[in-house]
Amino acid sequence: MDRVVDAPELSGVRGTLGKKAVTALARSVIAEARSAALAGGSPATLAEVVTRVRERAEARLRAGLTPVINATGVILHTNLGRAPLPKASIERIAATAGGYSTLELDLSTGVRTRRGVHAELGLAELVGAGDVVLVNNNAAAVMLALSTLAAGREVIVSRGELVEIGGGFRIPDVLARSGARLVEVGTTNRTRVDDYARAIGERTACLLRVHPSNFKISGFAERPALSELASLAQSRRIPLVKDLGGGLVVDLPASVADSELAREPSVQACLRAGADLVCFSLDKLFGGPQAGAVAGRAELVKALRDDPMARALRLDKLALAAVEAVLDAYRRGALSEIPVHALLAASLDGLARRVDEWRAALGELGAASETVQSEGAIGGGTLAEAPVASVALRITGRPPEILAERLRSGSPAVIGRVVDGALLLDARSVFPEEDRLIVAALRRALAE
Ligand SMILES: *Cc1c(COP(=O)(O)O)cnc(C)c1O
Repeated sequence: MDRVVDAPELSGVRGTLGKKAVTALARSVIAEARSAALAGGSPATLAEVVTRVRERAEARLRAGLTPVINATGVILHTNLGRAPLPKASIERIAATAGGYSTLELDLSTGVRTRRGVHAELGLAELVGAGDVVLVNNNAAAVMLALSTLAAGREVIVSRGELVEIGGGFRIPDVLARSGARLVEVGTTNRTRVDDYARAIGERTACLLRVHPSNFKISGFAERPALSELASLAQSRRIPLVKDLGGGLVVDLPASVADSELAREPSVQACLRAGADLVCFSLDKLFGGPQAGAVAGRAELVKALRDDPMARALRLDKLALAAVEAVLDAYRRGALSEIPVHALLAASLDGLARRVDEWRAALGELGAASETVQSEGAIGGGTLAEAPVASVALRITGRPPEILAERLRSGSPAVIGRVVDGALLLDARSVFPEEDRLIVAALRRALAE
């Protein structure tokens, strides 16, 4: 045991993982070697045991959060961390993280202020809402809205919207946890305003409308416009809550004009249509950190903010710092500084030129590759199905799974996708600054 743990080959991992963790790994590797030998296998040598311990230790070190190059073409990839942050957000996080800040203090008066007030006012101004409350994510936003407005009462939802957004976020379950009772109306494919109108009673707390972020009901289908539901809600004096998800706050660039994404409603459009509260993510099309917002009528937002649950769901100071910097960029109209918008705005010609350059830089190694049209996606549960035109490097002549695995285990790891027996590396979600790295990673993987 001591000879394994103290082996010179393990000095590196002893330094990074710590001797205790290396000892634990050594114990399990030795136990495995012993049972393999007892079962009739040949006994492992000291060198073999040490190598196995080192491999496991290195795998453990790689297992934490590590930057990757996203060549999947999916801009808001939930598994890869959704929206990359603007440089200004990163700088503001760095400036706030290591010391003290004005998180709950007004410097001009020296008096305590409400946490997040600056970002909340800025966001309310941007989307044209009476007020905004910021929470940990959109799931928290929906939960807070429903539990504040509707605990112990009824929420009316169309049967076509009793959906799962992903990661266990199922509308009926969220409603149940908020303490509200679900009243289903209409059918899976068709729901009319009258269906809602008939279900409204004295126990009704609100109407809930869920945006079809990751699914589509087509064919013999119908649902009222948001503005029609808003008129009904207003005439019966109950609030209309919209779970929007996407968090779009500007017009999308011409590059996606003919895609389905062009029909993604903005937060402003939902408020103008008459929704009393709109819940959305800030790490989807808004392009910020993980956070959720509820925007809408001031007295309703205030009720949410004053609910004890808001304290449990509140946003941390680093995310707030990041949100403030994104808001600055929107105020200045500097969309190109927000990575999600920069990636979406890239022209197909520009992407094709870059992929050609990747191939040229690979020389002989890139012989079995071509530049192809591909379909990226916005992803992130935000019209996940809506394709965004893109360009990819398509590599043939190698088993694609093996190549994909080699690229994943490199540093930085490159994540592509295997389609029709070839590996596709999509340029839509790759930053131009990463071109050099992707070429180097490909060189290593193809040369092996
Ligand atoms: C993405 C999404 C959610 C979940 O938002 P998170 O920020 O991931 O918690 C909820 N509802 C809709 C409609 C969404 O698109």
